[in-house]
Amino acid sequence: MTPEEAFQEIYTAADILLPVEQIPLLATLGRILRKDIIAQAPIPPFDNSGMDGFALHGDDLAGIPKDLRIQGEVAAGQVPVSEVFPGGCIRIMTGAQIPSGTEAVVPVEWTTEITPQSIRIDQRPKKGAYIRKAGKDMEQGMIVAKCGIQITPPVLGMIATAGYENIEVSSSPRVALIVTGNELHRNPAEPLPPAKIHDANGPGLAAQILEVGGEVIGPLMARDNAESLRETIRISDQAHVIVISGGVSVGKYDYVKEVLNEMGFDQRFWRVRQRPGGPMLFGMLGAQMVFGLPGNPVSSAVCFQQYVRPTLLKLMGAIKLHPPKMIAKLTTSMKKQAGLYHYVRGVVYQSEEGDLFVRPTGPQASNLYSSLQLANCLIHVEEEAVNPPQGKKVTITPLPWATFFKEKGNPAPKGFQSCPSSLGNEDALRQ
Ligand code: AMP
Ligand code: MG
Repeated sequence: MTPEEAFQEIYTAADILLPVEQIPLLATLGRILRKDIIAQAPIPPFDNSGMDGFALHGDDLAGIPKDLRIQGEVAAGQVPVSEVFPGGCIRIMTGAQIPSGTEAVVPVEWTTEITPQSIRIDQRPKKGAYIRKAGKDMEQGMIVAKCGIQITPPVLGMIATAGYENIEVSSSPRVALIVTGNELHRNPAEPLPPAKIHDANGPGLAAQILEVGGEVIGPLMARDNAESLRETIRISDQAHVIVISGGVSVGKYDYVKEVLNEMGFDQRFWRVRQRPGGPMLFGMLGAQMVFGLPGNPVSSAVCFQQYVRPTLLKLMGAIKLHPPKMIAKLTTSMKKQAGLYHYVRGVVYQSEEGDLFVRPTGPQASNLYSSLQLANCLIHVEEEAVNPPQGKKVTITPLPWATFFKEKGNPAPKGFQSCPSSLGNEDALRQ
């Protein structure tokens, strides 16, 4: 099965939509909106001034420079007490409601104060100048934010502008996370015993679940025997999705398939023509979607990114499941045989001319977690590609946690080259 066929299989199986919950706007950051937000009134709600200045009558837009009497003032939040008359003007602040009769606002900087009751207009504003019209941002009835988008800070702010306090978002998928392996150290408070390793996938995959807005059940640790695994899967029955790390390959103690099959598993596929993550398993256990991810930390993390993350987004009703695909030029050649689709951990950066360049993070073995930590993107290399040369254009997808594109030869943005020392911090506080 190719990665594309594997994803299609999962996409078809992911046919539930999680229930909607109505929660306070501020609690919705990162969630998926489940109902169009409609402007109930124009945004902004009334014509208002874009400048601190003076509201002018249309008759006074000619014959400038000229002197005008100040009739009164209107501050932000005040309702104007009178209309503006020819020969007069009303002092107005930014955001204050435009008095009727106004045809332009002249900024303070274009005027000279003659007396406390009069000003001279030095420069002529155009008709309509600095009047911010009601509904210019959004007209009444327009869609402010669309069902299926993720609530980002500006989406949240936009919804607030429309006056909503509680909004309908998707509830979070419950994801049971099971890590298998007798080599995993069970008690992190104790020193690491011989032949044991620290669990990377429990915390690592849990963080990936949280990043996309899921709720983690676990991590639950199972031993490499059928009873332990069966019991752990059984207690995961409240999860929408079960993610199992390890035990899906062909080792003598890889029990995941056997145990799942005993429990009535409907296997949809095992093995994908990809690297890392070749032995990936997927199927249904009743209504629960089960992903068996190979235990090597990079394999499980990349499989999560490529398959589990978009699935969780689909269950939440998201319209956009995948990160954008971009094209970048390889700065080094890569070793690759035909036969498998490769997801290579890469560092993408932009040249001064604006072109995107990418290089692999280094050795790509799937047990090397650092190859993932250093990456800000995945490089997609097609199944049939052989040894892509330097300069070749490749497809990349940014990783969700890539907050900036690293610069060439300078992995950190300027000013953040090293971890600030405590002394440095104290100095900064004193300043
Ligand atoms: P498996 O898929 O169970 O055959 O495991 C493949 C490799 O991944 C082995 O080297 C395991 O020790 C390693 N591995 C499995 N699970 C974890 C984990 N939770 N944390 C770190 N390494 C793991
Ligand atoms: Mg194992």
